[in-house]
Amino acid sequence: MSTKATVEKLVSLCKRRGLVFQSSEIYGGIGGFWDYGPLGVELKNNIKQAWWRAVVQERDDVVGQDAAIVMNPTVWRASGHLDTFADPMVDCKECKKRFRADALVGEVPASAHGHEAAAKVTRCPECGGELTEPRMFNLMFKTYVGAVEDDASVAYLRPETAQGIFVNFANVLTATRKKLPLGIAQIGKAFRNEITPGNFIFRDREFEQMEIEYFVKPGTDEQWHQHWVEERYNWYLRLGMQKENVRVRQLDRDELAHYAKDTYEVEYLFPMGWSELEGIANRTDFDLRRHAEFSGRDLEYFDEETGEHIVPFVIEPSAGVDRLFMAFLIDAYDEEDVRGETRVILRLHKDLAPIKVAVLPLSRQEKLVPPAREVWALVRKHWMSQYDDAQSIGRRYRRQDEVGTPLCVTVDFDTLEDQAVTIRERDSMEQVRVPIPGLVAALRERLERS
Ligand SMILES: [Zn+2]
Repeated sequence: MSTKATVEKLVSLCKRRGLVFQSSEIYGGIGGFWDYGPLGVELKNNIKQAWWRAVVQERDDVVGQDAAIVMNPTVWRASGHLDTFADPMVDCKECKKRFRADALVGEVPASAHGHEAAAKVTRCPECGGELTEPRMFNLMFKTYVGAVEDDASVAYLRPETAQGIFVNFANVLTATRKKLPLGIAQIGKAFRNEITPGNFIFRDREFEQMEIEYFVKPGTDEQWHQHWVEERYNWYLRLGMQKENVRVRQLDRDELAHYAKDTYEVEYLFPMGWSELEGIANRTDFDLRRHAEFSGRDLEYFDEETGEHIVPFVIEPSAGVDRLFMAFLIDAYDEEDVRGETRVILRLHKDLAPIKVAVLPLSRQEKLVPPAREVWALVRKHWMSQYDDAQSIGRRYRRQDEVGTPLCVTVDFDTLEDQAVTIRERDSMEQVRVPIPGLVAALRERLERS
């Protein structure tokens, strides 16, 4: 079936075609930060839109919000991040390099944070120098709010978007007059000062999350947990991920975060092995209870059916946009032999493809420019499109294949006579002649066909 992309091939394609660049590359870059280029921002937006559509727009029990990145620092005391969001770290006394102590003793699970696995390794893997004792290193980025840099003005860049939802639970409930079960969804940047970022955009220091906190009555939590595991797994398949590359795994007891009753992960078969795309946790009533305690505010829900005040349980599907971006690219990547030449093709789902339609005049001949421009004007009102007239038509098809453009429209010399153009499909390479007045309808029919 499809050819697996290596991380190297992917990094090269992403740079060459303007999907992802190293952050501040002209200054040598900065570890764990990446920039999304012209096509990358389109793909990323499409992933976020597909998620928002599925979890907010198409449901009547989930609403959206967008909280600030910097929050009152007490939030992180209540959430436990100030005390427990840390990795054990060792420094080399010779070369000054820093390592995660648990990474030196073996594989680091994608979700591993906290006190687990103190290192027994005493020598630097780089230079053989002596290592310090493991120390806990908090992963939150610290900053100062206001003009004075003192302890009272310390604040943090949020390490997850979730807490912005918990602190707004009462606000949203009052404003929407919704009943349980009620979900609040949010997409936004989060920051973790990972000691060892890596695997391209898989583990970043600045990344984007798509999270839902789904508040339910205690006792119904396990049933809703199953609902969300199925719902989220199916979302990946609907967006074209190949079934053999996606799986759901229930975490073992010892892998669970301190707040979780049970957690499932949707995992993808990355080049470096099965790794987490999304975690779906049962966070119980931990967060609302902690925030009620630290804020002194009432965060209970009045259940009209039973006349009781309850603290809702929370099911949390939490996905990382950047690693989804990487997974969708790897999954779509394919190479095939076409007449002795290698055709690189991204078989991206049409909803995700950065460009939906490319308009290509057969040549740069003057006569073709006006009709080609007119066709482009027709198309670009409806879809993200591109006009390309550089190099041979064969090369331009390849360029569009390589970034996953589902449809190309070619304007040729016959167009001047018959007022028709050719639609060429990415996957089948089939071509069909369509009159210009019917072009938009013909493209729409193909883009909406699943
Ligand atoms: Zn060293």
